[in-house]
Amino acid sequence: MRKIGVLTSGGDAPGMNAAVRAVTRAGISKGYEVIGIKRGFNGLINVEGKESRETMDAKIKELGVRDVSNIIHTGGTILYTARCLEFKEQHYISQAKIRCDELGLVGVVVIGGDGSFRGARDLSLEGVPCVGIPGTIDNDIYCTEYTIGYDTAMNTAMQMVDKLRDTAQSHDRCSVVEVMGRRAGWIALNVGLAVGAMAAITTEMPYDINEVADKIMKSKENGKQHFIIIVSEGVGDADGIAKKIEELTGIESRATILGHVQRGGSPTVRDRVNASKLGYNAVELLDEGKGNRVVAMKGGKVVDFDILEALSKKRKQFDKRLYDISRVISM
Ligand code: ADP
Repeated sequence: MRKIGVLTSGGDAPGMNAAVRAVTRAGISKGYEVIGIKRGFNGLINVEGKESRETMDAKIKELGVRDVSNIIHTGGTILYTARCLEFKEQHYISQAKIRCDELGLVGVVVIGGDGSFRGARDLSLEGVPCVGIPGTIDNDIYCTEYTIGYDTAMNTAMQMVDKLRDTAQSHDRCSVVEVMGRRAGWIALNVGLAVGAMAAITTEMPYDINEVADKIMKSKENGKQHFIIIVSEGVGDADGIAKKIEELTGIESRATILGHVQRGGSPTVRDRVNASKLGYNAVELLDEGKGNRVVAMKGGKVVDFDILEALSKKRKQFDKRLYDISRVISM
């Protein structure tokens, strides 16, 4: 029987399980046996001294229709995920190719961020066709307007900030909240608008703390008594920003770093549906004999690109209009 593999790699994201489920069931419906590979690319290699060859079989699991039951609504990934630094070395890429041949895999679906896509590219070049599915809460992959987990992460952050707002309101405070996004401010921008923040500070747009403080003071004169500032992880120093705001405005300010809570939880409708669409399309590509590609979303539709194009250094254009709208209507 023809076989395909599926793995999750890099940082986890809610909705990865929905993608694993879709890949498994699409594969089975097209006549494939589907092999789950555990802990990213680690599941395909054997690192001398780290573990023995005997454990190789424990690193894979055949996925039947019922093995992926009851996971569409869960965060995390049943296949586990991990970084695998060895995979940057040719020796281990060759080893992974041998392992895929041993397992009889005609292709592998790689769910992860752009680091994982580099691994998928290398394995494709080695002769194992791979298709990447964008899975990262940061939405920082150039070729796609959406990545699995992004919607859930935004909703989680929004709910958390709503809770902080209650307490900021009771105490007439300013709440400075750091949300995830090391290289991209998409979560900060959208959550900032969704919670009615005074400002969303991201790496993409320059900011002046004095301007932020002035805006707070103007709103205070206008009757506003509590304030929310969203800071993207890439900007960092939420504590320093809170201190500075307190110093400039005299309003008690507290910093909160939301952290990994944004990576967990039950995926939203959007993440479940998109993960299912992307998973199905990834299998379709492999079935058509196409590898070295990534599936992506454009205008709400699933499209696909050469992995090299997906890894291009070009940066996704920041949504300046949304940023401007958010600034204008927060007063
Ligand atoms: P993400 O996929 O979320 O961007 P990472 O950047 O940590 O996360 O990458 C995940 C994994 O992808 C790495 O641990 C490694 O196994 C693989 N990977 C990353 N960069 C490369 C590369 N240049 N060549 C081969 N594999 C890579």
